[in-house]
Amino acid sequence: MGSIRVLSQNTINQIAAGEVIERPASVVKELVENAIDAKSSAITVEIKEGGIDFIRITDNGTGIEKDEVKTAFLRHATSKIRNVDDLLTIGSLGFRGEALASIASIAKVEVITKTAEPMTGVRYVMEGGEEMAFEEVGCPEGTTFLIRSLFYNTPARRKFLKSKMTEAGYISAMMERIALSHPEVAFKLIHQNKAVLTTTGTGRLKDVIYQIYGKDIAMNLLPVDVKRDAFSIEGYVGKPAVSRGNRALENYFVNGRYIKNKIITKAIEDSYKTYQMVHKYPFTALNLTIEPEFMDVNVHPAKMEVRFKNGEELFSAFLEGVREALGSRQLIPKVRLKNDTRKKENILERP
Ligand code: ADP
Ligand code: MG
Repeated sequence: MGSIRVLSQNTINQIAAGEVIERPASVVKELVENAIDAKSSAITVEIKEGGIDFIRITDNGTGIEKDEVKTAFLRHATSKIRNVDDLLTIGSLGFRGEALASIASIAKVEVITKTAEPMTGVRYVMEGGEEMAFEEVGCPEGTTFLIRSLFYNTPARRKFLKSKMTEAGYISAMMERIALSHPEVAFKLIHQNKAVLTTTGTGRLKDVIYQIYGKDIAMNLLPVDVKRDAFSIEGYVGKPAVSRGNRALENYFVNGRYIKNKIITKAIEDSYKTYQMVHKYPFTALNLTIEPEFMDVNVHPAKMEVRFKNGEELFSAFLEGVREALGSRQLIPKVRLKNDTRKKENILERP
């Protein structure tokens, strides 16, 4: 053991980067979430070599003020919260102020950005956390991030990456989920000069499902619509006929954020139990809209896990909502008993 030393800021950043930035898909996730938070209506992601060598993300959002560009790359610098109480009412996807600092510490980063007012924007280039260039440039309103040579200065991390095809697949899956959770944004993913995902930003979830998964799934959807005092659940579930052998198509979102949650997964899968065989998993695209005070998103660095205060109520709402969708007449013809007027009314009431 050597003597005790304080680590350099860049080393600290590189260590923390491991929590947030594991692979190219994490870079894409963080930067696309930033673009969504910046109110973009169109976001294009271009990758080469599975994103390991090249990621370019272009948005038409608010841009970053010239005199705030450098600050944005400092650890814990954020425009989205001011203090810990703001976490109770957070509406944005980001809030830790760590992504840009982390990415800049483990890759070569270039950003070109312009806000609405000024005539010119700025170009800022960093390598391994060091500033290489800061200059005025002509560019449209919005932001472009260029990330090159991921983990070039942390070979131990680079070693853990999978093949370029596999990494590209992770990015593609990530983009699909983000596009599903934001039908109001037009997304494009380009890999090796080929568009592999395109959504048109119509605002309709069904359009996005069609554009990503195709006709087979889009033609076999059942709407879910649940309203409670503290939350609502909206979206679609697939008919059992389009279920798969793995959970890849079980998508759900909380306030526009893709998450994994045991309670919700169990409620969804329980709902399907009587409709399909074991080891089959449904297609779902459900968005839970809930007051931020009922949940804690500050559990996991990648913000993938969420804790709920009203878990039991959520469980039963998902269960009821999905069961009701599955039990609707599109799926199985209702048997009407002659004297049961209640059932007749129900059937007539259905749209
Ligand atoms: P966080 O998203 O948690 O605030 P980040 O490190 O991801 O932290 O980003 C830091 C800040 O940089 C953001 O709070 C935001 O103000 C600004 N920013 C980052 N990306 C963009 C973008 N694409 N458009 C506009 N502003 C951005
Ligand atoms: Mg962010």
